[in-house]
Amino acid sequence: MDIEKVGVVGAGQMGNGIAHVLALAGYEVLLTDIGEEALTAAVALVDQNMTRQVARDKIAQAEKDAAMARIGTTLTLTDLGATDLVIEAATERETVKQAIFDELLPHLLPHTILTSNTSSISITRLASRTDRPERFMGFHFMNPVPVMQLVELIRGIATDDATYRACLGVVEKLGKTAASAEDFPAFIVNRILMPMINEAVYTLYEGVGNVRSIDLAMKLGTNHPMGPLELADFIGLDTCLAIMNVLHEGLADTKYRPCPLLTKYVEAGWLGRKTQRGFYDYRGEMPVPTR
Ligand code: NAD
Repeated sequence: MDIEKVGVVGAGQMGNGIAHVLALAGYEVLLTDIGEEALTAAVALVDQNMTRQVARDKIAQAEKDAAMARIGTTLTLTDLGATDLVIEAATERETVKQAIFDELLPHLLPHTILTSNTSSISITRLASRTDRPERFMGFHFMNPVPVMQLVELIRGIATDDATYRACLGVVEKLGKTAASAEDFPAFIVNRILMPMINEAVYTLYEGVGNVRSIDLAMKLGTNHPMGPLELADFIGLDTCLAIMNVLHEGLADTKYRPCPLLTKYVEAGWLGRKTQRGFYDYRGEMPVPTR
């Protein structure tokens, strides 16, 4: 099936990046969020990031202008009903996602494919509560979306082949590569990555190392481009905690219990880069460790 118009729900870190790559690939994009400020900030960020791509000769000015013109915004979620594909990228909370789908469903075209960028929530369960489980799947981008090559495509138990092929076609048109994952908690990337980040927080919690030494050890000792705590701040500590909770509950194994220190940071509202404070404090010129 031909996908031309794509609706993106949530204009946060992921939503703006998803709108960016879709618009550059030629899709008409309609972006929605609950607040005008989030939409304004997202469009400004896409503009800024594309300007950087022009400066680095990655794209031409005319491509940027055409792509920016393809991004529309709305505060009315149901306006997305008239799109061919919806990518939900709102806050990682099942009740939030559920409420979005409930409101959107009566307004969708019969052929619209519904997807979620969730990092960990069961695609099969989300799909089962819609009128189109066969046209529902996981469309999981990596952060930052314009830079990262991978998209995980997750089929729910009922997802049909036509839906999978249509989503694969979109990934290819974006110039990205898809890895297929079965629908089990946190799929592939986060099933492996989050326990490592959580273990880094335990290492900090137990005083084995401080923030700087843990990140340094993993960067220089394993050739990771970012340390695990720096990466956690980049992802968002609320998102990391939500994924650990999904692993813990979904796999019922204590080895996935979230570190109490991670919970404490989230309770403090120190969510990482997006709130300017997490394992590092980003309010000054250089990030300063908070422990
Ligand atoms: P974020 O907090 O930056 O953005 C979430 C956005 O959703 C916010 O702007 C919020 O206002 C909006 N929102 C909340 N309720 C809404 C509603 N009812 N309608 C419309 N918008 C609503 O979060 P994020 O990091 O962009 O994560 C979004 C999704 O992407 C999550 O499911 C997350 O698991 C997933 N994801 C995140 C990463 C990452 O590295 N941050 C990577 C891959 C996938």
